[in-house]
Amino acid sequence: MNTPVIAIHGGAGTITRAAMSPAKQAEYTAALSAVLEAGQRVLADGGSALDAVTEAVRLLEDCPLFNAGRGSVLTHAGTYELDAAIMDGATLGAGAVACVKHLRNPVLAARAVMEKSQHVLFAGEGAEAFAQAQGLELVTPDYYFTQARTDQWERARAGSGTTLLDHDAATLAAEPIDPDTKFGTVGAVAFDAQGRLAAATSTGGVTNKQVGRVGDTPIVGAGCFADDVAAVSATGTGEMFIRTVAAYDVAAQMRYAGVPLEEAARRVVMEKLPAIEGRGGLIAVDREGNVTLPFNTEGMYRGFARVGEPVNVWIYG
Ligand code: ASP
Repeated sequence: MNTPVIAIHGGAGTITRAAMSPAKQAEYTAALSAVLEAGQRVLADGGSALDAVTEAVRLLEDCPLFNAGRGSVLTHAGTYELDAAIMDGATLGAGAVACVKHLRNPVLAARAVMEKSQHVLFAGEGAEAFAQAQGLELVTPDYYFTQARTDQWERARAGSGTTLLDHDAATLAAEPIDPDTKFGTVGAVAFDAQGRLAAATSTGGVTNKQVGRVGDTPIVGAGCFADDVAAVSATGTGEMFIRTVAAYDVAAQMRYAGVPLEEAARRVVMEKLPAIEGRGGLIAVDREGNVTLPFNTEGMYRGFARVGEPVNVWIYG
């Protein structure tokens, strides 16, 4: 059996002029490394891929640098609406929540939906009531607040009025990836010592999105997918990832056409998505523990760690 491995992403987008701020780069690198080390520990202790991706995404949600949980972007109305999904490749179990406004950790709610309900996707108030009944932590919306995302939302409203990908929004000047044009979803995929695969994805969505808009993140097969062939988590222009069924496409090419992981992911990110102006990237791992982290933007916060080996983290191409 191959060595267990975890990979994570924290969004993709354009590189800023101030990109070279070593202090900011170091902050992002340290945050990504800490999350990978936590996931690596779960796997090293014999934990499941499912537990590793749950823990990694929970930590990314709690970190205000990334657009998920605390640090989420705002809707056009200045509110927060979060989406998350998780999938267990060993069982095809899946759970997701959409448009939640009071959950500290949407990924934990998604996992509860998978394990404690007969359903796959809960939205809005029903999702929150379900999570509360499962003992999960509720927060008031100000918990999600960061000045940076609020400034970004104001720029988006003052500008063309269109939606912005979190790390695509010109001018959180000191961030390595332009926050006004970055996709800010977070995600994790893992392969454990028993050969099982899992994926989890969580997001605040795109800045200035219409109230009620749901992206690819909580849609199984679009922004998150795992089976016994591959586990995939995506970030980018959600509508295009839904239309290309992006995450599932990687696993389907492998299953039905025998395409290797790296090539399957490359076709989705470099061919299928750009053909409809889809921007972003994905992380994927297969049942042999191979990892690929392709993106069609200038940068993507990303990394992977094999048990017993050093953590690898990158921001740019
Ligand atoms: N894919 C996410 C969405 O469309 C956004 C992102 O990745 O930043 O909601």
